[in-house]
Amino acid sequence: MTEVYTGKVVSKGIAIAPARKVALPPELVVPDHGIEDLKHEQVLFDKALAGARDYVSRWKATMNGRLEGEALELYDAYDEMLQDPELVIQTKDLIESSSKNAAHCFFRVTEDYATTLMALNDPYLSARSEDIRMLADLVIRLLSGQEIQELTWTDKAVIVSRQLTPQQLSSMNSDAIAGIVLVEGGLTDHTAILAQALSIPLLIGVSEQVLEIQNETPTLLDLEAGVFVVNPNTKQIHHAQEKLGVLQERFEQARLQATEKTVTKSGRSISVEANVGSLLEVKQAKANGADGIGLFRTELAFLQQKTLLSEQDHYDVYASILEGYEAVTHTIRLLDFGSDKPLSYLPVAKEENPAMGLRALRLGLKNYDLLLKPQIRALLRISKEFSIRILCPMIATEKDCIEIKSLIQYELKDLKTKGYKELKMPPFGIMVEVPNVAVNPKKFVDLADFFSFGTNDLAQFLMAADRSNVNLSIYFEDVKPTLIAIIEKFNSHAKRLGKAVSICGELAADTDFTEEFLDIGISSLSMAPSQIPIVKRRVREIK
Ligand code: PEP
Ligand code: MG
Repeated sequence: MTEVYTGKVVSKGIAIAPARKVALPPELVVPDHGIEDLKHEQVLFDKALAGARDYVSRWKATMNGRLEGEALELYDAYDEMLQDPELVIQTKDLIESSSKNAAHCFFRVTEDYATTLMALNDPYLSARSEDIRMLADLVIRLLSGQEIQELTWTDKAVIVSRQLTPQQLSSMNSDAIAGIVLVEGGLTDHTAILAQALSIPLLIGVSEQVLEIQNETPTLLDLEAGVFVVNPNTKQIHHAQEKLGVLQERFEQARLQATEKTVTKSGRSISVEANVGSLLEVKQAKANGADGIGLFRTELAFLQQKTLLSEQDHYDVYASILEGYEAVTHTIRLLDFGSDKPLSYLPVAKEENPAMGLRALRLGLKNYDLLLKPQIRALLRISKEFSIRILCPMIATEKDCIEIKSLIQYELKDLKTKGYKELKMPPFGIMVEVPNVAVNPKKFVDLADFFSFGTNDLAQFLMAADRSNVNLSIYFEDVKPTLIAIIEKFNSHAKRLGKAVSICGELAADTDFTEEFLDIGISSLSMAPSQIPIVKRRVREIK
């Protein structure tokens, strides 16, 4: 029977594919019983370890091409842990001495180990203990025949789920995701941003009933029309296929022109840049004619990272991502972990209101040596090879601004004494995303070289409306005129001092507002790479 669901369209597009449900696997049960054949139990344990290694190597293969260097090497570390003689021998000894089943013994050994590592209060070792628990979970499920959540498939499917975290999404093969339908989620949370970046149609706020769908049920996700159709009829599929053809052709036409200069009819040049978080998006940005990276969300490049990053780790990631992209300027943002981008490689305390909590710059300053210092030094070093600007997230006060700028200047001075003599201070900019900054241009325009409006956070703080709560999405429509008025005022102050202002929140890609942005004096917009050709085409239509 055909069923139609509606919701909030986050990322447009059309998908015709079977449904596949993604849910958290049921909680692990560790069986605990005696055994008689000890040798046989040890053989079963070896088999489960080998099975777990197969999983790890499949995960690595899925990520190949999407992750690089250290991030990909994580899977080799998992593989080594599964062969760690200490864990393996201790488990086998425990099977012998206790006559208990392998799952129980492996759980005890790994838990002891993980607890000891946790107690050392070292962020690196805490992350290792999480890895060990994750691998133990896998081995125990294999030993006891419990469900293992496989998020890897190769044929295209529409994901149906209550929620999908940015981690889950970035750990999946995006080529196999035709579309996403969620009961919860936010218009501008980072799952939304990733889906847009990957050009995956995403519908959120769909009725709970959708979760009753059976895997492999045929579906049609038409987010041009804003509907999710379960068991569509042939006529509906045919119609959607035709629409998809037209859309693809229109996009291809816009893309063919995307690498040409973006000037209005009256000859005003507009810079249309890309928001990126991975090598894949940088490639897409280049292909879609981005005039540089307008916002590099560096934290997204490290969401899967399980260990602390050194200065060289940062350097290598940025160098590999920017390689071959020297001709234009790139704006690289300091780590903006926290809120819906939890930090995986440094445990942080749970907070009541993480979006307004110890996140971004605040978290970076509190853990300066571990988080910001290596990043800042790597960015300063890389500024020798690439034209970059450093952008700081979540500035709330003048003091925030002065403090981070002086830390960057300090690291620059220190690097110079250590042999990097010719380094210069790259342009320093701040995100305008906290109302105290947005409504006080006079106080802030002197303090930075450039400004980038983070309309996603600014909207949530102006409206006191959580950006990841679908029930509040109306506020993100209502706030638009206020945002435009604030940007206009800020820009007119900044212009007087010759400082550049751009917009990098999701609003930048809204073609209903392109003309208004240009009217209020904005000449630089940054957005998901997939939106660039469309916005460029819109700019060329404007007088
Ligand atoms: C914003 O807040 O608008 C922004 C661009 O940053 P992020 O979405 O990463 O918070
Ligand atoms: Mg933000």
